[in-house]
Amino acid sequence: MGNLTARGEKMGAQGAPVGRFAPSPTGVLHLGNLRTALASWLSAKSRDGKWILRIEDVDLTRCRSAWAERQIRDLAALGLESDEPVLRQSDRCEAYGEALERLHAAGFLYACACSRRDLALLASAPHAEDGLRPYPGTCRQGRLEALRPDALRFRLPEGEVAWTDLVLGDQRDDPQDLTGDPLLHRRDGCFAYHLAVVVDDGFQGITEVLRGADLRGVTAAQIRLQEALGLPRPAYAHLALVQAPGGARLGKRGGALGVQELFAGGIGIPEILGRLGHSLGCLDRPEPCAAQELVASFAWDRVPDRGGSPSRLETLGEWI
Ligand code: GLU
Repeated sequence: MGNLTARGEKMGAQGAPVGRFAPSPTGVLHLGNLRTALASWLSAKSRDGKWILRIEDVDLTRCRSAWAERQIRDLAALGLESDEPVLRQSDRCEAYGEALERLHAAGFLYACACSRRDLALLASAPHAEDGLRPYPGTCRQGRLEALRPDALRFRLPEGEVAWTDLVLGDQRDDPQDLTGDPLLHRRDGCFAYHLAVVVDDGFQGITEVLRGADLRGVTAAQIRLQEALGLPRPAYAHLALVQAPGGARLGKRGGALGVQELFAGGIGIPEILGRLGHSLGCLDRPEPCAAQELVASFAWDRVPDRGGSPSRLETLGEWI
């Protein structure tokens, strides 16, 4: 597999960046999602790169195409349009199946017989990272003779993974402590998020993955999966989460404010962009502007989230 880190970094340095925003269509994009989308667009555009929108609708039980259309429309209203046709993960099952076959042939997969109840019991155990409970490897010793439509997990190779996050700096995690062996295929026939995201980032030649800090803890497991599939490693940037006053988390399904609601409330697109641009360090003051006007002043070393201090997010808070 060679030196994948070096290969990934070299690719990023030589060519123009390819960034992506990859929402799951489970609801309306909220301000935190819009901020991540804008940052990924600015990061790519400020270095003459390409920006791709990907709809992560692999979980058919939670996703709705009406939400996907709404998300695409809301992003376009901000001036963020995909440089490639929008990829939908629901169209990519063949590629995920092929990836599973390769992983199986290399001995990385095992079938997991744990019930939801078994896993829920584990969820009551305390854990360092919010919301993440590592799978303890209950079924890991089992042999998988033939690939079958079952719950399938990736047997993580041992050891820590180090990467440099564009926002958080040097990171080092043992994925066994965070996710445990990730689920790649579900018993109900759906391919799982970890598989789809890694296969598609590789397929689309993504060189930088921007997403919310709530996904920081899955990065090490995804890097291991990339390595197993022989895919290059993109750069990662985990942006601070925009919180509601009082610290509550925004959710796509929680009725958080989206562009259309802000618009209906008399707040214009230029004003939204001004606030988001200010929160990303592109503007000294949150003055109304167009997305294109923020491109020249975007730089990672100006993004206030760096080092974990989201100092300018409060300018968004009053809208929530
Ligand atoms: N689809 C995921 C979400 O909407 C994001 C995945 C990623 O950016 O890696 O939360």
